[in-house]
Amino acid sequence: MKIQILSKTDSSVKFLVEGIKPQFANELRRIMMGEIPTMAIEWVDYVKNGSVLNDEILANRMGHVPLKFDKRAYNMTKDCKCEGKGCSLCQVKLILKKKGPAMVYSGEMLRNWNSRP
Ligand SMILES: [Zn+2]
Repeated sequence: MKIQILSKTDSSVKFLVEGIKPQFANELRRIMMGEIPTMAIEWVDYVKNGSVLNDEILANRMGHVPLKFDKRAYNMTKDCKCEGKGCSLCQVKLILKKKGPAMVYSGEMLRNWNSRP
């Protein structure tokens, strides 16, 4: 196996791996993806869902929205002093208000600043 680093920044690494089977490369990719800290939508409370999508489908789609965050501003839930219960140091609340018919974009979700001390 030969690994060549092609480029490296603070947020990305581009590399070339040679001499391995595709299955091993895919497993390597999956392991690396699992080690990257991510923030995603986990709970969705609806006041009113007037869209054509039912609540479960809409929540599933929102769970796939990539959320950018400053990893220094939040703790991993498992490492937080709240011991995984959830607090403003390891969670963020987002609010989405939209009246249609209209297209809804992930950038329209606003942080609920009241959830932060
Ligand atoms: Zn916490």
